[in-house]
Amino acid sequence: MRIAILSRNSNLYSTRRLKEAGELRGHEVDVIDTLHCYMDITSNKPTVRYKGEALPAYDAVIPRIGASVTFYGTAVVRQFEMMNTFSINESVAISRSRDKLRSLQLLSRKGIGLPRTGFAHRPDNVEDLINNVGGAPLVIKLLEGTQGIGVVLAETRKAAESIIEAFMGLNANILVQEFIKEAGGADIRCLVVGGKVVAAMKRQGAEGEFRSNLHRGGTAEIVRLSPAERKTAIDAAKAMGLNMCGVDILRSNSGPVVMEVNSSPGLEGIEKATGKDVAGMVFEFLESATRTSARNATRT
Ligand code: ADP
Ligand code: GLU
Repeated sequence: MRIAILSRNSNLYSTRRLKEAGELRGHEVDVIDTLHCYMDITSNKPTVRYKGEALPAYDAVIPRIGASVTFYGTAVVRQFEMMNTFSINESVAISRSRDKLRSLQLLSRKGIGLPRTGFAHRPDNVEDLINNVGGAPLVIKLLEGTQGIGVVLAETRKAAESIIEAFMGLNANILVQEFIKEAGGADIRCLVVGGKVVAAMKRQGAEGEFRSNLHRGGTAEIVRLSPAERKTAIDAAKAMGLNMCGVDILRSNSGPVVMEVNSSPGLEGIEKATGKDVAGMVFEFLESATRTSARNATRT
C-alpha cells in the first residue's frame, strides 16, 4: 500500500517508528508535513498539493495532528477523505477528541465511567458548582489545557473558590472534577488500535505530583489491565469514533474512570514501557481495514 503519515516533523519518535514499521511490512510510506499541504477544492476533483505537485492517491493516511494545529490539520485530513482516502482516524473524530467537554458529554451518554464533573463559564453560584462534584478536594481544569498544564488540585473549598474565581476572571471555560485521590498520582494509558487494546502502561507522577503526565516528569511501566479497564478503553475509543487512540484511565474506588482520549497518542513512552511493536500493529490494522473497507463501518 501507499501510505502517508501527516506529521509536522519526520524526526519525531512516533513518526520515525511508523515509517519504519510500514516499510518493514512492504509499504511505501511518505511523511507529509501537514501545514505545508495546500488544497484544491474545485468541484469534482479534490486534491492535496505539496511542494508544487499534487499528492498521489494514497491508500491510507495516518494523521498525527498536534493540538495547536487541529483546525488546519483536520482540514487536510478532511480533504483526503474527500478523495476517498482512508484515514485511520476521521477528521470529525479528531476534532471531537480535541474538545474535552464534548468528549466527556459523548462518553457520559454511552455510560462510560467518568469522574463526577461539572462545567462552567460564569457560574452564579460557585458553591453549588463545588457541591455538585462532592466538595473539596477537587481538580479544576482549563478546558484548553494540554500536557497537564492548566490542571490544578484544590485541597480545600476556599482554595477551590479562589481558583474558580481567578479562572472566571480570565474569561475561561472551567471544568471542575472530583479528585480521584486513590489513583495515587498514577494513570493507565491504554493504546487502542482497531477496537483492541494493543498495549497499556501505568504512568506514575513525580514525587508529590498528582499529575501523571510524562511531560511533567512522570515514569511509565507495563501494566496488566482488568477486564473492566480493557472494556472501558475499548468503549471509549468506540464512543469517540477513533480507530487509533490513547485512552487515559484512573483507577478509582468505583472502577475505571476515563480522563481523556488522545487521537494522536505518542508511541515512544508506550513502546519503551511495554516492549510492544505498536507501530507494526497500526499497519496490521490498516492492512485489514483497507481490505475489508471497514471505513464505512466507522463513519459517523
Ligand atoms: P491534560 O489533558 O492536560 O493531560 P488531564 O485532564 O489528563 O490533563 O490531567 C493531567 C493528569 O492529572 C492526569 O493524567 C491525572 O494523572 C491527573 N488528574 C487529572 N484529573 C484528575 C482527577 N480528577 N483526579 C485525580 N487525578 C487527576
Ligand atoms: N502527547 C502525549 C501522548 O498523548 C502526552 C503524554 C504525556 O504527557 O504523558 O501520549
